[in-house]
Amino acid sequence: MDSRGRVSYIRGVAPEGWRETEDALWKCFVEEAPNMLSFVEQTTPLRFSLTDQPDAFPEIRGGMQRGRMVSPGAIRRSLAGPYTAAIRPPSLSHLFTYQEALALDPSRHPLKAGLRKLPLVALRWLTGARGMGTALVVGLLKGCLDNDCRVRLGVRAVEPVLVGGRVVGLIVEQNGQRRRIFARRGVVLASGGFEWDKELLAKHFPGPIDLLGSPPGNDGDAHKIASQAGAILVHMDQANVTGGIPIRPDMLPFGISHFFHREANAIIVDRNGERFTNEYRFNLGAVIDERDPITNSPLHLPAWLISDADFLRGSPIIRYFSARNPGWVVQEDSIAQLANATSLPQDTLQRTIARFNEFCRDGVDVDFHREDPGPHGIVIGGGKAVRLKPIHRKPFVAIRFNRTIVSTKGGPRTDAAGRVLRSDGSVIGGLYCAGVAMGNPFGTWAVGPGTTLGPNMTWGYICANSIALSSP
Ligand SMILES: Cc1cc2nc3c(=O)[nH]c(=O)nc-3n(C[C@H](O)[C@H](O)[C@H](O)COP(=O)(O)OP(=O)(O)OC[C@H]3O[C@@H](n4cnc5c(N)ncnc54)[C@H](O)[C@@H]3O)c2cc1C
Repeated sequence: MDSRGRVSYIRGVAPEGWRETEDALWKCFVEEAPNMLSFVEQTTPLRFSLTDQPDAFPEIRGGMQRGRMVSPGAIRRSLAGPYTAAIRPPSLSHLFTYQEALALDPSRHPLKAGLRKLPLVALRWLTGARGMGTALVVGLLKGCLDNDCRVRLGVRAVEPVLVGGRVVGLIVEQNGQRRRIFARRGVVLASGGFEWDKELLAKHFPGPIDLLGSPPGNDGDAHKIASQAGAILVHMDQANVTGGIPIRPDMLPFGISHFFHREANAIIVDRNGERFTNEYRFNLGAVIDERDPITNSPLHLPAWLISDADFLRGSPIIRYFSARNPGWVVQEDSIAQLANATSLPQDTLQRTIARFNEFCRDGVDVDFHREDPGPHGIVIGGGKAVRLKPIHRKPFVAIRFNRTIVSTKGGPRTDAAGRVLRSDGSVIGGLYCAGVAMGNPFGTWAVGPGTTLGPNMTWGYICANSIALSSP
């Protein structure tokens, strides 16, 4: 498919009003994404293969049943050389690649998945080969090292160095010392979102938030540095929003981004104890984060996942983390007690569960039709699986479902070359921004599974090319 087809898909899926401001960035993204992937395969040990996933909205013009989602093959951690020990261990195992995990579902069937692929698992265990994010980070780092890039750990960029309005370098901090680093051609800000900055988070995401999915340190430094250089910030209320699992009480609010709610006997209720969405829908995060247009406060929160004993039995991952985080999973012998423990209105909660159980008996979810996998079903819930089972066996279960923010997605507005702009549209010379730090052209509403890493890497590639083509 040519880039026109790809951009029509994005245009068809994006929320109203985004095309007016983002179209130029979308076009550049769809043109450069394949070039970025070829470049990465040429310059790093990473090799990508297509996953079996369709687009999230294959029925939209330009949508495809397969051919857009890629997953990196497993590679050895030791390729990161002197930096191997600095690669953060994942919260959930990366023994499988993303595509393998899609097929084997190890978070729900860890033992079965491990046994089915025993020789492969054993080999990876012995060689230190890993898939998913570990493969991506190790592969990119190896590519940088092989191409003489210098990598410095423990150095924090804090301010721009400005000469006549142009950014010519950064002031950085290391071991309590400040120094200047000059950049002849340009500086790319790619320091992630601002989710760990309490004030910024409270300002742009009012209301309850359960967990933060990125490691601490993404404090919005790109946003602060760009603002000091005169940048305009956009989409500051946008984020990658999911459900989440706390890892350890002493690490809170850090947690794993994980959609653990897709079980046939689980529903999500709002603060009034009522269902407000098809729990299996794509872009559930955007629905959970719906705001009042006037006050900007969340419409549904606090929200709760409600289920029963069968949910616990079918979710080893929930049982494991529940044992490590006492109190995270609320368990009660009756729905009345559950309502009491969660401060949900008892009558409404009882009515909601009774109504859902009736839908299960009839096989039709009259309110949200979640029995119908529709065109999006394969992506989000394993396609043909049963999606309606009653909530009726004690203990009854409630788990908070108030947004896990993987990364915010607002930041400095850039043009299609990745150059950071002022509010009057003029370019701040020497300053570029990529990834979730930029005013990302894809906000909370994703156009496909993983509408983050692909665009983030592409914007890094676009920025680097712009710099290479700029005059020194
Ligand atoms: C569990 C999990 C699973 C995910 N799965 C997927 C997936 O399958 N597909 C997908 O597309 N996306 C996925 N994501 C999202 C994706 O990982 C992120 O969107 C992406 O990593 C963001 O990329 P980035 O480079 O913009 O920022 P980051 O990856 O957050 O990198 C920013 C870096 O900048 C550093 N930094 C911060 N401040 C400074 C400073 N002042 N000076 C110097 N350095 C600084 C940080 O330490 C960090 O290393 C997942 C995320 C999580 C947590």
